[in-house]
Amino acid sequence: ALKKLEGLREKNTTTSDGRRITLSANIEFTNELPMVQQSGAEGVGLFRTEFYLLEGGEMPDEQQQTEVYTEVAEATSPHQAIIRTLDAGGDKIPAEPLSHPEPNPFLGWRGIRVSLTRTALFKEQLRAILRASTHGKLGIMFPMISGLREVRTAKDLLKQCMDELHRENVPFDEKIETGVMIEIPSAAMMANEIAREVDFFSIGTNDLIQYTVAVDRVNHYVAHLYKPTHPAVIRLMDITVKAAKDNGIWTGVCGEMASDLMLTPLLVGLGIDELSVGSHMLPSIKKAVRSLSSAECTEAMQDILSASSSPDIHRVSSEMAQRCY
Ligand code: PEP
Ligand code: MG
Repeated sequence: ALKKLEGLREKNTTTSDGRRITLSANIEFTNELPMVQQSGAEGVGLFRTEFYLLEGGEMPDEQQQTEVYTEVAEATSPHQAIIRTLDAGGDKIPAEPLSHPEPNPFLGWRGIRVSLTRTALFKEQLRAILRASTHGKLGIMFPMISGLREVRTAKDLLKQCMDELHRENVPFDEKIETGVMIEIPSAAMMANEIAREVDFFSIGTNDLIQYTVAVDRVNHYVAHLYKPTHPAVIRLMDITVKAAKDNGIWTGVCGEMASDLMLTPLLVGLGIDELSVGSHMLPSIKKAVRSLSSAECTEAMQDILSASSSPDIHRVSSEMAQRCY
């Protein structure tokens, strides 16, 4: 089966009726880049930089970060690599030891909240991404956005970095794309306003599910309530995609949901433009997309968006999956 999938590497990811979908890869470390290239990915849709930034004792400085982001840009070129700024906290490595442990880490000092209070660190990372951006096609993505103000503040800091680099005569890609993770329900509800500030959305379903149904994504006691096809989750995703389309920007999905072959018809039906998955899953997702009709998936959305239970939604999508691949 792997041999067969290998033949797909050079092929586009296009539905049977001709809709192009970008299939890109999620990475945590640069040693995954050869596998990304082998998988036939059209870029990196999510570089989770917190693992690289926080693995050692001391955070890499601007120069060291520039080298790493350059490596990613070069390995991915001519495709885009989206560098997500530090998403520390939650179940991940904390950004720094706190005097009091947080009672609710997932609701606490995490993601962009850390970056907007540790602006010197944040700006180092932004400057490094900008400096690397002349070596390929990079994108910048902010995690854990809960509303408009955070997006604007993050963009102001990015603008400051650009002004500094101009003054220092350091070249960078002036047209670098800037986007946000949509992974908090409040951000999905405000997608129309947020879309005017950015070039793309990437839906982080791992967190969007957790925050929508109030289920800790790593707590086994409540795992049965963690439902990717919960109608509320799907409706929030639908709001997000529609807001993006209304404002002329694209939407990706970079959470685990993008790797679930039974849910590919649902994601195609929602109108998702990009799927970013672990590179080991890439060939089979590509094969799935190629065997689906976008029109048929879109039509199924009527049933999906009016469904009132998770099993109903799952059934519509998985039946189509089983019929088509
Ligand atoms: C997500 O939340 O779906 C996501 C892709 O980000 P992470 O898993 O790193 O929180
Ligand atoms: Mg997340």
